Amino acid sequence: MSKKVVATINSTGRQAASFIRAASAVGWHVRAQIRNREGLVAEELETLPNVELIEGDLTGPQRTALLNRLFFGAKIAFINTVHWGDEVAIGKACADAAKRAGVAHYVYSSMPDHSIFAPDWTALPMWASKFAIENYVRQLGIPATFVYTGIYNNNFTSLPYPLFQMELQDDGSFVWQAPFHPDDPLPWLDAEHDVGPTLLQIFKMGPNHWKGQRVTLAFEKLTPLQCCARFARGVGRPVKYVHGPIDIKVQIPSGYREQLDILQETLGVKRAPYFGPELEYPREGRSIWEGYRGIEEYAREVFPIEEYANGLRWMEEESTAPSSVAAGEVDDGELEPAEPRGSRPMTPAGRSLPLHVTGAYTPKSHPEGLDAEFFVGSM
Ligand code: NAD
Repeated sequence: MSKKVVATINSTGRQAASFIRAASAVGWHVRAQIRNREGLVAEELETLPNVELIEGDLTGPQRTALLNRLFFGAKIAFINTVHWGDEVAIGKACADAAKRAGVAHYVYSSMPDHSIFAPDWTALPMWASKFAIENYVRQLGIPATFVYTGIYNNNFTSLPYPLFQMELQDDGSFVWQAPFHPDDPLPWLDAEHDVGPTLLQIFKMGPNHWKGQRVTLAFEKLTPLQCCARFARGVGRPVKYVHGPIDIKVQIPSGYREQLDILQETLGVKRAPYFGPELEYPREGRSIWEGYRGIEEYAREVFPIEEYANGLRWMEEESTAPSSVAAGEVDDGELEPAEPRGSRPMTPAGRSLPLHVTGAYTPKSHPEGLDAEFFVGSM
């Protein structure tokens, strides 16, 4: 009996790898494009049953041939483009190849372009390219669904990367400083744990169920204060939220700096909702996949392991910080139910916060890619 053939690109990325693990486990034949076989994730994918790795660079001149090979016989595809190379050109080429191959259900991982919602909201450049690709896929007329991903739980690290640093304090507690208003809800997603099963279910529901629709991949709706309270409970140490500018302590590419600058202004100062004003969460994601991993579970079970793999050893020492915050001084009850579409009040523009640059730092590499490259893909 012939197997269901599914195509993926950037297969060592957290989204695609999560889906590949799930698809492989249920016996689908996965054609997975990877740039090279280096790294733990590539090595892992190589050992999975039903996974055929297609090695090649999507930014190179052999792109069309590579994509023809990737999509040959594929009836479904999960495409997550990344900003390396010309993202829009790669996204369009993938959609063209899928159309040529007659793909019956194409899921593209998109993101919003905030500039279409309000005159003073600026598009986040690394998200707007995805929205442009979404529009191209729509124009092509292939049966498609567009998933919108929340903030990954494992963006958090105690290493000094911008935006999601859980900065370790002398007393063993943590501080997260970010420009998000402390009371603004944010969507949270454990990409490695939950992208795969959710996509599997979306594909099983078939192309007509979500045809042309945007589906939010976000399983918790938590303000920064609520997120910190849950994180504290999970990690067993106090976690304090500081509403402040993005602190840039490492060298980052100028494109990523621009992304962070605009994120701070649009989502932070102007308080635009992360997905824009129209998309609801987390009810939709949870209706598709109930077994999600929340931030508390992530902080308890995964964060210390990732940190240890990064060469950090704080988890071997007791925290001397008072435990009251860890137990939860903040009400970490979830914001429920999801707000009706378009009902969120817009806050007038505030004063712009400058990005705070405190010098260069060359971080350690994580065996799974927790390095500078990884964090450029963070948001
Ligand atoms: P990832 O960040 O886990 O990995 C990035 C991938 O890019 C790796 O597989 C790497 O091999 C690959 N890559 C491709 N070409 C490359 C090149 N020339 N040089 C270096 N690496 C290259 O990937 P992911 O998380 O599955 O997807 C990243 C995308 O997700 C980004 O576009 C980001 O904007 C988006 N996103 C992230 C978040 C978040 O919270 N982290 C939220 C929403 C959207």
